[in-house]
Amino acid sequence: MERLGKNRGIADLESPADSRKSLYSSFVWTDYKAQLQRRVKAEDLPKYFHLTESEKIGIQETIRLNVGTTPYYLSLSDPEDPNCPIRKMIVPRREESFFSPEETLDPLHEEDLSPVKGLTHMYPDRVLLFSNHECSVYCRHCMRGRKVSDSTERMETADLELCFDYIRNHPEISDVVISGGDPLNLSDSKIDWILENLEKISHVKICRLGTRNPVTLPMRITTDLCKIVESHNTDRLSIFCNTQFNHEKECTSEAKEAILKLLKAGVSVGNQCVILKGINDDEETMLRLHRKLLELRIRAYYMYDPELIPGSRGFRTPLAKGIQIIEYMRGKVAGMGIPQFVNDLPGGGGKVSLGPNWYLGFHKPSRNHVFRSAVRGTYHLSPEPVGSEYEEFYPEISEETWSKLLQNSYSAFKGLGPLGESGK
Ligand SMILES: *Cc1c(COP(=O)(O)O)cnc(C)c1O
Ligand code: SF4
Repeated sequence: MERLGKNRGIADLESPADSRKSLYSSFVWTDYKAQLQRRVKAEDLPKYFHLTESEKIGIQETIRLNVGTTPYYLSLSDPEDPNCPIRKMIVPRREESFFSPEETLDPLHEEDLSPVKGLTHMYPDRVLLFSNHECSVYCRHCMRGRKVSDSTERMETADLELCFDYIRNHPEISDVVISGGDPLNLSDSKIDWILENLEKISHVKICRLGTRNPVTLPMRITTDLCKIVESHNTDRLSIFCNTQFNHEKECTSEAKEAILKLLKAGVSVGNQCVILKGINDDEETMLRLHRKLLELRIRAYYMYDPELIPGSRGFRTPLAKGIQIIEYMRGKVAGMGIPQFVNDLPGGGGKVSLGPNWYLGFHKPSRNHVFRSAVRGTYHLSPEPVGSEYEEFYPEISEETWSKLLQNSYSAFKGLGPLGESGK
């Protein structure tokens, strides 16, 4: 395979590195519209990557969304190494062509929970608004593959107006999550119009922009766009942004500049990553990503498990992975850099969070709770308040376990020494 690729030099084909160079120098790099015009499609991939057999099959046979990447995001990927995490988010692989029996187009039943086209009303106080079907990069792992990149899913102005009517008629809705597709792939004037409409609905207090553009096209965060957003970020409406960085390679100086612009417009930025097999499904990769995000002044929000959509098999990891990652991170990075591990329940149950168990149980005779330290792995005792009526609430710890733990445990009266030779 590798050898075949190298021997191609005999033909007058440009190498991926050379093709990339000519692409990157053919337009003004910082012009986001030019980045979108120069977007790389499926048929262009052989020019910019030495493709593996699996990738060639994936490109031919994918049952998922279209291929597309900005030259900027392409530049973060490796043309030679098929294990490059960014490459795996851009280039389909063979696994994308399998429709596994456990998969369906809409596992979260967003369509059943949709009172009008483009709106999902799952939680009483919040709605998800599908603003458009376009994105700067079509991520191979996208969970909205059934709608994204499909022009028959276009949201017309009239469709959006019906969504605003629904929100207006439901005073319990205080929070509108705008997602797509990617709302920042709409024009400035359309974004202005959407925010203006939401701002006029007095019970809508919060609006969130779900966008991957800070990651895939940071030049989209222009001064003009920020002015528009800031003009609606008012006493009446608070605007947040949730983005999706999945790997530290995405944390570039361009991305940081984009985030700082949003922060200056008063927009708080959070990250919702997805655990992806072979991309970021190990403890150190996730830790490094979240340390970098704090340097970019992004707080961790969620870490998702990929959903059961067609062709998702190649990305899914065991549930235990997510729990292990969170367990590993606790104590090694600031708490604001630790996401909540969430699972969006198939069948429309909404999100639930899962965490490692640091609580061993309650020892009734001594009224002590037993915890395991995330930093040291040691056991620690903390008493239930006197007169508490909740003793029955806790899982009980057996006498046998208790007697084993006791000599190795710490408490308010017996503490550990400083971290150093003994700790890590
Ligand atoms: C995720 C989601 C939301 C927002 O949920 P939060 O937990 O508040 O971030 C709202 N509606 C739907 C349908 C969602 O999937
Ligand atoms: S930017 Fe979001 S909606 Fe668009 S393809 Fe990527 S994950 Fe899907």
